[in-house]
Amino acid sequence: MTNFHVAIIGGGITGLSAAYYLQQAAADLNLTYTLLEQSDRWGGKIATETINDLADEPFIVEAGPDSFITQKPWGLQLARELGLADDLLPTNDGRRQTFVLNKGRPTPLPDGVMMIVPTKITPFALSPLLSPLGKLRMGLDLFIPPKTDGADETLAEFIERRLGAEALDKIAEPLMSGIYNAEAERQSLLATFPRFRDIEEKHGSLIKGMLAGKKARASHAQSANGAAANGRPPTSMFMSMKGGMADLVAALRAQLTGECLLETAVTRIETREWRLENPQSPTTYTLTLDNGRILTADAIILAVPAHTAARLIGDLAPEAAAELETIRYVSTGTISLAYRRDEINHPLNGFGVVIPRSENRSINAITWTSTKFDQRAPEGYALLRVFFGGSRTPQMMDIPDGELLHQVRRELAAIMGLTAVPVFHRIYRWPQANPQYDVGHLERVAAIEAALPAGIHVTGSPYRGIGIPDCVHQAQETARRIVTEWTRTDPKGLTSTNLASGVAKPLGSSR
Ligand SMILES: Cc1cc2nc3c(=O)[nH]c(=O)nc-3n(C[C@H](O)[C@H](O)[C@H](O)COP(=O)(O)OP(=O)(O)OC[C@H]3O[C@@H](n4cnc5c(N)ncnc54)[C@H](O)[C@@H]3O)c2cc1C
Repeated sequence: MTNFHVAIIGGGITGLSAAYYLQQAAADLNLTYTLLEQSDRWGGKIATETINDLADEPFIVEAGPDSFITQKPWGLQLARELGLADDLLPTNDGRRQTFVLNKGRPTPLPDGVMMIVPTKITPFALSPLLSPLGKLRMGLDLFIPPKTDGADETLAEFIERRLGAEALDKIAEPLMSGIYNAEAERQSLLATFPRFRDIEEKHGSLIKGMLAGKKARASHAQSANGAAANGRPPTSMFMSMKGGMADLVAALRAQLTGECLLETAVTRIETREWRLENPQSPTTYTLTLDNGRILTADAIILAVPAHTAARLIGDLAPEAAAELETIRYVSTGTISLAYRRDEINHPLNGFGVVIPRSENRSINAITWTSTKFDQRAPEGYALLRVFFGGSRTPQMMDIPDGELLHQVRRELAAIMGLTAVPVFHRIYRWPQANPQYDVGHLERVAAIEAALPAGIHVTGSPYRGIGIPDCVHQAQETARRIVTEWTRTDPKGLTSTNLASGVAKPLGSSR
């Protein structure tokens, strides 16, 4: 069997996972890969800073994601497969409470609100978060007929249609668009919360659907408690890593035996001339690297932002590049602030505060990190994280660090009464780093995929899910597709598909 070489561009969680899943096939198939990352570290948006010099225990400060959702199983599966089961860190679910800023005051999200839908009447009825009319309007969800044409719509259209404008403003926009750093008026329902449409279609009402789901989960929890009694703890909805999310990256990188190059940017991709002359030739593409090296590859995985992918394949596939350019990005940032606990006159009694756009603040959300997770701040200290930028507060991206800190502290004083001086702070800016899943996103992605030349794959956060589990899953699927396509064209590499591991393996293989 001829050798088949894959170039993977981008060493974030997607590129690393793609290398890992390709490698699972590589031992038996004559497949090699090169993973190329332009910066001097692995992980892309996953980055953890460990600050050791203030106390016996460290502060664990996340620059990007602080956890991953476990309902989508691929992140958790990967962590366990990498031997990290004992290093997983659940959220402090006993202290789970979200506050919504309401007329300048953090107001608890009523007990029983699942995602955005009330499932307990009394706490919802008593909550000051929504007006009586707003609550009644949400109840109309029980009677409004479902939309059944299957067409995409914005999150705002969907929520206003089913639950009303107040539910959009006070709950859905800050909670759901916040996850995506998106604008509800542009955000695609089908690309970001397809489950809501499924529930609407199946149950005719979000409230009825959520209640049915709650019942099903309660019986599942009973069996999970049984599992816990058997020594298997029930899984938290979100998981982090004890030493920070970078531990996932380090464990993944440690498994990779292929060529993995840091500080190596790809600047251009071309079709090999002689490949055009001889279409049977196995090597298809040449990649120009910023150190002058030329790399050849039979397949390429672009695990980089869509605008970078567009630039790299602009000459090769102008149509696909033009489609890639249509994926819009926004810039965001976070500032983590550490305090002495006794200097904060606030109970920090929850995971933090989300801020509706109508509150007109210059920050988007506050996470009370050291309540949300154990092991994030030493005894006697607290760690907070503030989110800014995006389409809501883009002006915050450009102000100098000192002014940014000053403004954020003013907001913390106004919202939480927090006037203490932080013992340190860390600012992380992510320019043009947040892909926007605007309405019609899934069609846009399908058009990109259809326009790509054979052997070129785009995958990761710009396309079919921004969260870590979705990135891992897309990488797995891309690896599977590459191996399947290659072995289909190379008769000596015939494979059966090992669905369990997500990659193809040769017939007769014992792995
Ligand atoms: C502040 C913040 C908080 C978040 N919170 C969460 C969360 O709690 N949970 C969650 O699941 N997700 C969260 N996300 C989203 C998640 O972190 C990202 O979607 C995911 O990490 C993206 O991974 P990726 O590999 O697709 O892309 P990236 O991490 O962007 O990796 C792309 C890599 O490609 C490299 N690259 C670019 N151009 C080139 C080139 N020409 N040659 C070589 N290399 C190149 C880049 O340097 C980068 O390392 C958050 C994101 C941010 C910014």
